[in-house]
This record gives sequence, structure tokens and C-alpha cells, in this order.
Amino acid sequence: MKLIFEKSKPGRGTAMLPPCDVPFAEMDESLKRKAPLPLPEIGEGELARHYSELERRTHGVNNGFYPLGSCTMKYNPHLNEDIAMMVGFNRIHPLQPERTAQGCLGIIHLAEKLYCEITGMDAITFQPSAGAHGEFTGIAMIRAYHQKNGEDEQRREILIPDAAHGTNPASAAMNGYKVVTIPSGPDGCTNMEAFRSAVGPKTAGVMLTNPNTLGIFEKNIAEITDLVHTAGGLCYYDGANLNAVMGIVNPGAMGFDIIHLNLHKTFSTPHGGGGPGSGAVGCKEILRPFLPVPIVSETKNGYTLEYNRPDSIGKVRSFYGNFLVVVRALCYILSLGSDGVKEASEGAVLNANYLRKKIADGKYVAYKEPSMHEFVLGLSELKKETGISALDIAKGLLDYGIHPPTMYFPLIVEEALMVEPTETETRETLDEAAEAFNTLFRMAKEEPEKLHGAPFTTPVKRPDEVEAARHPILRYQFD
Ligand SMILES: *Cc1c(COP(=O)(O)O)cnc(C)c1O
Repeated sequence: MKLIFEKSKPGRGTAMLPPCDVPFAEMDESLKRKAPLPLPEIGEGELARHYSELERRTHGVNNGFYPLGSCTMKYNPHLNEDIAMMVGFNRIHPLQPERTAQGCLGIIHLAEKLYCEITGMDAITFQPSAGAHGEFTGIAMIRAYHQKNGEDEQRREILIPDAAHGTNPASAAMNGYKVVTIPSGPDGCTNMEAFRSAVGPKTAGVMLTNPNTLGIFEKNIAEITDLVHTAGGLCYYDGANLNAVMGIVNPGAMGFDIIHLNLHKTFSTPHGGGGPGSGAVGCKEILRPFLPVPIVSETKNGYTLEYNRPDSIGKVRSFYGNFLVVVRALCYILSLGSDGVKEASEGAVLNANYLRKKIADGKYVAYKEPSMHEFVLGLSELKKETGISALDIAKGLLDYGIHPPTMYFPLIVEEALMVEPTETETRETLDEAAEAFNTLFRMAKEEPEKLHGAPFTTPVKRPDEVEAARHPILRYQFD
């Protein structure tokens, strides 16, 4: 197979290379490939069938409801893709000289400005590749701040509620901190008594998700951030659930100093397959000196990548992050406008509360408080009665063309199913989903044995999940 660029027609990213300092013809011969890449020889038709077959075997937002809690599997507008595929964006090379990439640097600069407005922060880096990576970066910045102030040896603890995503304690531990776990109360919020007694001179900071992973807004958030600041610590906001509050309240107003956004979740990039993502990290002025390098600065002569920043934690990945995710995220908010951004959150909260009420009339919800953009079902009672577990219900949903909710998380809810419908689903879809859940609950009582065998309609039934996690087959087989 030969790649013949001259023959491809101009269009969505195929031809028209961007300006390059050295034309191909003048490039040093030693740098050019001597033989074509040994790619498998197959025709376009076969290739198209192969990918269509893979598509049929997978589940995406394009073919069904996908209420995977905390992951915000919203429909991603095609407009984002069209913009991200423009040659000026997707044929750029990370080593291209700055002066030939002014438009792209301008995009990063504009995105920084708008996302500062949405989050109430003063500066943002788009370098981290995902939320977890953003957390690691943010906690490293908190540590650099305490080091600079000579308090690192004293401040060894990060406080984290027990409902937190597992990446939070991992990010704190990877930065050398001791994790102090704070229990949640019966209302699903942080237990304030436990919090007050945990915060003190050893506190480096708190990591908090709001609304939390139970889908509940921390009603004491102002007191929490106040307590930490008074003790000399800093407040980190895990922004994975921003889809519930964007345009309504921002983490800056809640008292946070540093945050990450999962641009691929809240701000619309397809992310079911594991990437690429963007865990943009925003911070208040006091933490700006510690941001990773380079940062994009605007000067008299245009945009430039600034490396000379002595207090920076350094680089956390190559170049300046997954740029095309930033393009999509910027396109998304510009096309929605500030009213649209707010409306998206309102729709997400409305949809979650609607579905929560329609599934068994709210009987199985783990917390009775009104939810934000997601809610958690606790099925331990159903399991005791019928032997049907959260896993069985999740498998049963597959036969209705529904991707299972997040299972067995948060860890503090037994037999948990965490449901996040997002704002892009219609009332009809929510009604159908509620009907599927309710049918499965009936089946649990009437034909539990059958439900243990679900799913019946998918290409893969019940794989050995331990084996699949330990020994995944990650490569295409050529035989
Ligand atoms: C998804 C998620 C993360 C991690 O983000 P990734 O982009 O998957 O690395 C962290 N916290 C919460 C609450 C999340 O939902």
C-alpha cells in the first residue's frame, strides 16, 4: 500500500499541508523513508467493512443511551469535529516554529480566557492529558507552593471525602502526601464534625468534587474552603462534575484555589475509547507561578511559548497538551454561548431528577436528597430479596441497547449503580430507559434465574472480567 498525497483531493484534512519551513523536495535525503511502511495490504472496501463491524460491536452515544455516571457521555456535536478537522488545526506539528502557529496559540489563549470565566480562576494550562493527570499536576502545584513558603515539611496531609473518585487519593499519594479520608454523612455530604477535627496545621489541602460523586451538592462548601484556608491549606476542586453547575456557580466562588476540568467530559469530546482527553488545570493568582511550562503569553509580536518561569513545576507531558480537544471545547462553548452553557447544566439536572423519579418511583435511590446531574441507586435490598445484583441489572440493560451505569462506585454505597443521563437525551429516551430498569426489577422478582444469564443479544455475553482486566488482548490479530 502506498500513501499518495498528491492524488488526494482537498477537503477534510487530506491534502494541503500547512506552511512548512523546508519543502519535502529540499529535505535532507537521509531523513526520508527509503521504503513504504509495511502496512497490511487491504482494499478500502475491506477496511470500511472492518471498521463498520467494529462499530456494530461497540456501544456509543451514537447508537444508544449511555448513562455512565461521572463520565458525562453527552452527545458531541459534529460541528466540533468539523472545526477540529480543519487543516490549519489538525496538520500542525508540535515542533513547528511559533511564528507559523500563531492561530493555534491564539486558540489556546482565547480558551484560557473563557475557561477562566467559567471556573472563576485566573490562569489555565491545557497540558495535562486527562482528569487524573490534572489532579496530579494540581497537587504538585500545591506542594510547590508550600515548599516555596517553607511549610512542606509541616504540611503532609491532604483531606479527601470517602465518596471521592479513586484518582484523588492516588494523585495525593503520588505527590508524597498522606491521605486523610473524611466520612460522608447520612445526607451524602461531607461529615462536618469529622472535617473540622481533621483540618489543622498538618493540612496541605483538601480535594473535593462538587457536586460530589453521589450527585449531591455540598451544602457546607463555603465553610469547608474557609476552614482549610484559615488553617493555611489550599483547596483543590475535581471538576469532573462541572456539568451540573457550569454557568450557575463556579469553583472560584465556592472558595477553591485550583481545579481541573475534564474537557473531554463536560466540554464535549468523544471519550468512550479512553482518549485523547484534556485535564485542563486552572488556578488562582497565588498559584500561577507554579503552572507547568510552557505557558502561552501574548506579547507585542504575537503569541509566544514562555519557558522562563523559575517556580514552575516543570513539564507534565510533551508540548502543550491534546490541542484538538481544546479546539473542540472552545468550539462547544462558543457555539452554546453563555446562556447555552447554563442551559446545558440546567437540562442535565432536570434530566437526572426526572429519571431518578421514574425508576421505581425513586425507591432504590441511595440518598433521598434531590440530586444534581446524576444519582446513585443502591440495590442491596433488591439483592437480599431476589439474589439479583447491580451487575445483573447492568447486564440486563445491555439487551435494551443501554450502556450500563457506572457500577459499584462510589464505594460507600452497596450494590451501587450511578446514573448520569446528561442534558442531550430526550424525554422519550428517558422514559424508555426508566421502562427498561423497571422491567428488569420485575424480572428480578419473577425470573431471577433468567436475568443471571443476561445479556442475550450482545456479541460478547459475560466475559471473565478478571481475565479481561489482567490479560487484555490489545492488538489486532492478523490470522
Ligand atoms: C472521570 C473522573 C476523574 C478522572 O478523570 P479522567 O479524565 O478519567 O482521568 C476524576 N474524578 C472524577 C469525579 C471523575 O468522574
